[in-house]
Amino acid sequence: LRRFYDPLDDMAMFANAYSSAAAALEKISGLLEEVPELPEPATPVPLARPRGEIRFAGVEFRYGPRTPVVLPAFDLHVPAGQTVALVGPTGAGKSTIAKLVARFYDPTTGTVSLDGVNVRDVADAELRRAVVMVTQENFLFSGSVADNIALGRPDASHAEIEAAAAAVGAHEFIAALPKGYDTDVRKRGGRLSAGQRQLVAFARAFLADPAVLVLDEATSSMDIPTERAVQAALETVLAERTALIIAHRLSTVLIADRVLVVDGGRIVEDGPPRALIARAGGRFADLHHAWRESLALQRQGD
Ligand code: ADP
Repeated sequence: LRRFYDPLDDMAMFANAYSSAAAALEKISGLLEEVPELPEPATPVPLARPRGEIRFAGVEFRYGPRTPVVLPAFDLHVPAGQTVALVGPTGAGKSTIAKLVARFYDPTTGTVSLDGVNVRDVADAELRRAVVMVTQENFLFSGSVADNIALGRPDASHAEIEAAAAAVGAHEFIAALPKGYDTDVRKRGGRLSAGQRQLVAFARAFLADPAVLVLDEATSSMDIPTERAVQAALETVLAERTALIIAHRLSTVLIADRVLVVDGGRIVEDGPPRALIARAGGRFADLHHAWRESLALQRQGD
């Protein structure tokens, strides 16, 4: 019985419940067309030492003048240090919310602010340091493993790179690669598994040490030991920073301080995961129930 109730065993994905090939294709084409080039502020407001408090105030957003409104009237306050899991069907607006925090786009109306400063008024370089986005697309670039970890901190020493890898439990497998940290991630022998790529991305985030981490969690399936390693690494990376996670795994949602169920660009439920699970007939409670049932069925079939 225990295995049905161990949250770390709950590796089912929201994505399975909702995603479709069509939505995935739509996303890919969307990504290809988006080349965010937003104007830099003329007189940037310095963030000093960003704490990571996020606020959406009266945000309306659409991708283009002739495209539908994605967020009709979005308000959200995330205190510094909170871990927020965004869940909900494909197309709900989760990635859009995440991208607005990183200022990939500007709202059509309303403001997105970081520590009380409108992100439009923050110098680009400073915002990139304060808000780091880890998505499924940018897990790895070409170059060595070390280059990949140092991406957000090009000045980092080798010792710092190794320390970041060690912090997220990636040092051992990296050291065992043909050329260790110098292994080219695109070359034969350097091919990393989905779980290893995620650990490298987490090492990068750990080293960059942003006030805000925006994470689009990977949907690829991993074996249980790898899942556990990734989960432990995630918890390390989340410590002492604000995080917005587009969560695909129940285990991730359960470690969040707060779950936002988003649908049609609106927050339909907001609360700590356990409180939402306890809400009879609630969206998250239903989702959680369906999730467990599908896990149980999956295991009966194994
Ligand atoms: P989720 O992350 O919850 O799946 P998204 O934020 O990706 O949802 O999408 C919300 C809506 O915005 C969807 O209807 C989607 O088709 C649309 N959308 C997303 N990206 C783009 C884009 N680059 N251009 C136009 N529409 C987009």
